[in-house]
Parts: sequence; C-alpha cells; structure tokens
Amino acid sequence: MPARPDVDLLVLGSGVAGLSAAIRAARAGRSVAVLTKGELAWSATQYAQGGVAAALEEDVDSPDLHFADTISAGVGLCDVDAVRVLVTEGPARVRELIGLGAEFDRASDTDLAYTREGGHSVARIVHAGGDATGAEIERALVSAVRDTAAMVHERWFALDLLVVDGRAVGVRAVDPTGAEHELRATHTILATGGAGQCFAVTTNPLLSTGDGIAMARRAGVAVADVEFMQFHPTALDHPSMPRPLLSEALRGEGAVLRDDHGHAFMLSEHALEDLAPRDVVARAIARRLNDGDLPHLWLDATPIPNFARRFPTVWRACQLVGLDPTREWLPVAPAAHYLSGGICTDLDGATTMPGVWACGEVARSGVHGANRLASNSLLDGLVFGSRCVDAIVAGKDEAEETGVLRGIEAPPPTPLEVPTATRAGRRATREDLQRVMTRDAGVLRDGGSLTRAHDALESMQPTDREVANLLVVSRALVDAALAREESRGTHTRLDFPETNPAFLGRLVFTDAEPRFVRLPEPAATR
Ligand SMILES: Cc1cc2nc3c(=O)[nH]c(=O)nc-3n(C[C@H](O)[C@H](O)[C@H](O)COP(=O)(O)OP(=O)(O)OC[C@H]3O[C@@H](n4cnc5c(N)ncnc54)[C@H](O)[C@@H]3O)c2cc1C
Repeated sequence: MPARPDVDLLVLGSGVAGLSAAIRAARAGRSVAVLTKGELAWSATQYAQGGVAAALEEDVDSPDLHFADTISAGVGLCDVDAVRVLVTEGPARVRELIGLGAEFDRASDTDLAYTREGGHSVARIVHAGGDATGAEIERALVSAVRDTAAMVHERWFALDLLVVDGRAVGVRAVDPTGAEHELRATHTILATGGAGQCFAVTTNPLLSTGDGIAMARRAGVAVADVEFMQFHPTALDHPSMPRPLLSEALRGEGAVLRDDHGHAFMLSEHALEDLAPRDVVARAIARRLNDGDLPHLWLDATPIPNFARRFPTVWRACQLVGLDPTREWLPVAPAAHYLSGGICTDLDGATTMPGVWACGEVARSGVHGANRLASNSLLDGLVFGSRCVDAIVAGKDEAEETGVLRGIEAPPPTPLEVPTATRAGRRATREDLQRVMTRDAGVLRDGGSLTRAHDALESMQPTDREVANLLVVSRALVDAALAREESRGTHTRLDFPETNPAFLGRLVFTDAEPRFVRLPEPAATR
C-alpha cells in the first residue's frame, strides 16, 4: 500500500503555483508532499505560450506602469493591494525562477528579450523557446522539485478536503490503484488550476476540470467571481481538444485580425487596436461571428518575420492542420481560456477555512479583476505560491481581512449538497455539459440563455468525478452570471450591455446561492 504522508504541507497540483510553493517550502526545511492527478509535468502551465509579464527593466518600465495596466484591464474588480503585491514582488520571483534554471529567450548575452501583449503599455513579457514559455518553466520547476526532499505522488486524485471542527486537516484522495486514502497535513495548498473544460471550445488541457474550486464549494470555503471566464480571442478554429492557441504575442509582433471581407476591424474598436485587452477583442470577434453566422474570422500573421523560429509552437500547430501562417490567414474564434474567479484568498493565499490555502488559477487572489491582463497568470502563480509558503513558515494560521477577503466574512462553513450519480436525473457526460455551457454561457450571454443553461445543469447527474466537479463549477458560473445583470470585463450580458456601478463587487458563494459583496474602499491605493 502506498505510503501515507504525514506532512507540514500538502500541495495539490504540480503547475507553476503548486511547484513554486513546494520547492520553497522544502527549501525552508518543511516536510512537503505534492499530490497531482497526472504525471508531475502535466498541467496547463506546460501549455503557456506568450510569456511572463514583469517590470524587469527599470529604464523603460516600472511596477507602477505594470500596476496601471493590470488595474485598467480588470475593469474595477481588481484588488489594488493584491495587484501591488503582484507587480512589486513579480520581478524578484522571475529572477528566482531563472536562478532555478529556467532559460528565457535573450536579446543578447546579457539582456532578456521582451515582447508585448494586449493591454500592456510596454514590452515587458519574457518568453522561452519562442512561444514555449510554459514548457520551459514546467521543465525547470519539475527538475528543481525533484532535487528537494518533497514527496511526490503522481496519478493521485484529490477528492475532498478532510474537515475536523472547521479546520482542514488534509484530503481524501484516490491512489493509482483506485484505493482511497486520508492524507493528513497541517496545511493544504490548493493549486489545482482552472476549469476551461466546462466549455467545448477551450485552450485548456483535459485536466483543467475545476477540482479545487469544487472541493472548496463542497466544504463551504468561499469562492467568488466565477462568472469571469476569460475567452481567448484567437484560438485556431479547428476541432482539436484543446484548441491550439494562437498567442497574443503574434499580434504583439505584427499580426492583424481581419473580418470576412479582409477589413482590419480592431482599428475602429479600441485605441490599442489589435492589442486591446482580451475581453474587448473576444467580444468584437464574437459579435461579428454572431451577426454574420460565421464559424471564424481571420488572423493575418503574414507580416511576422522568421515565424517558425519566433513561434515554433504555433508553427507546428499550423503545420499539423496543413496551414502556412507565412502565406495564408489563419481561421480564429474565441475559446474558454482562463478562470479569473476562484477560491477567495487574503494577500497570503489564506482562505476562509483554517488549514486551506489557494494559489494560481484556482484562487481568487484579486489580481485579475473582471479580466486578466495577458501573461499575468504565470506571475500570479509564482508570486502567490511563494507568499502562501512564506506566511506558513512565518507561523500564520488564519486568514486576515486583506485582499479579496476584505468585506467577506467567513460564516461557519455550509457544506454544499452535491449532485451524485445515485440521485435521479439525466446522466451527463463531459461533452453534454460542455455543449450546454458553450451554447448558453459563452462569450455573449443573456438572461434567457443562462436560464436555459441553469435548468439543463440542474437536471444533470455526473458520470464521473471530474464531470461532478465541472458541474459544481458550471452551476456556480451560470448562477453568478445570471445574478450579474451588467456587462463587465469578460462577462458580457447582451440584455445588460453596459457596466453598472451598482455591481462593483463580488458574487461570493459560501453556500448554495451567490451573495453580492460590495467592494470595500481600497485599504491602500499606492
Ligand atoms: C494554451 C495556454 C496558453 C497560456 N499562455 C499563457 C501565457 O503565455 N502567460 C501566462 O501568464 N499564462 C498563460 N496561460 C495561463 C496559465 O498557463 C495558467 O493560468 C497557469 O499555468 C495555471 O497554473 P496553476 O499552477 O495554477 O495550474 P495548472 O498549471 O493548471 O496546474 C494544475 C495542477 O493541478 C493538478 N490537479 C488538478 N486537479 C487535481 C486533483 N483533483 N487531484 C490532484 N491534482 C490535481 C493538475 O494535474 C495540475 O498538475 C495559458 C494557458 C493556456 C491553456
């Protein structure tokens, strides 16, 4: 029988957030176990293309500029203190990553190469292997964690938090043979990533099934802002799963979006044109697709020099489907890409339940507001993964009223009643659920489509554990999207097309229904 870890820190997930945390904790002398449902390198992190945003060059950039761009992309819902933490601590975390062995592309022997993506006012994004940044980061972190004393449990599936007297004391998990165990830990860090698999058209790998958010919901840990699913505007329109992503960095290097008549339509949509924030570009494309009943628009990447060398991942993806980006336009359509909402945390990643911490895409740290600024999520994982550990090592045991937890009081946890395969209802596969979500809760939503989605999800009984988790997250997403009667960032209601100041707050789940919590005045707006 596999050994049962009895550790200071149990880290669920082995993407950028989980591995950063595990390495830091092990180096600080803590006993650590990493539990991950696939092989160690399997993660969304591995797929990241464009890069990591950080103000590394003081002569042309600054944390203040990065702060302003992040706040502006977030359309009123960023937590300003969390963003301040991200942009000021980000450069040091990127340098540490380089110290761990991650090799970023260089402009010269001494200088890193920078690119620009949507919503950034300067070129501040470092990248690796051209457009294979995530693969390089994951490689470096996997290698570094293997050099520590951290225990690694691959192909273990975390089922649920173990809660005793209101405190999490570990998890229930299934080992590779299918046997169930209770793994006990003083602190459990949820770093289980996003939930793009709620949708049929997504850039996320099959493992992005919202497990951590579902675990939190079931245990009554506060979750918020899940209506803000970011749709990447330029996924290759091809029936592969996940959809090949055509990185925003292509537009940073000269590619242009074109409509069915060849018109470069972003010129009239936003001052930043093709480099407008993602929500703006995704909406502009989705409207044209709807109006013209079109399957896709076009990305004209022919102006990019040295395409195959600069963007080898995109080049290979195009070659696989018989497209030549140097000579023809590429068919593009939006795809579910990044869940900005998640488990509510304070500035150190602590949640509303003692013993549970969250970092990376699973967390609602507050840095992404209603729309994530491109290339801020790898940075989010690096910065907040490290902060969880630093706080634990410093002896912190309970969340404070900082960051997203300001204004969110933690009522006694109310475990959520969840759908199980034993209850009456229609047996639903992942594809059944994805079809509903893509049709009725995608880029453009309205009350009618969301109500249809709500009713369809209500009648579904999941066929497996991941579908059960997707169902929990999808229901929360749809219910919050129904309650948010406005358009803001990545949440677009056709029946409420304007941003409404009355909705300047979060839809927080601590039990079955979302509760609106108005954004408190920022504690600091430096
Ligand atoms: C195609 C693509 C391109 C992207 N490009 C960029 C980019 O250029 N820049 C950027 O900043 N961001 C980018 N992103 C977003 C970024 O990659 C992710 O947000 C980030 O990597 C998430 O890291 P994470 O550690 O939170 O989660 P992940 O990397 O998704 O890791 C989650 C881990 O949790 C494990 N896990 C999940 N559930 C369980 C369970 N029940 N039990 C045990 N283990 C579990 C998974 O196996 C996995 O190891 C991109 C995303 C995609 C999909």
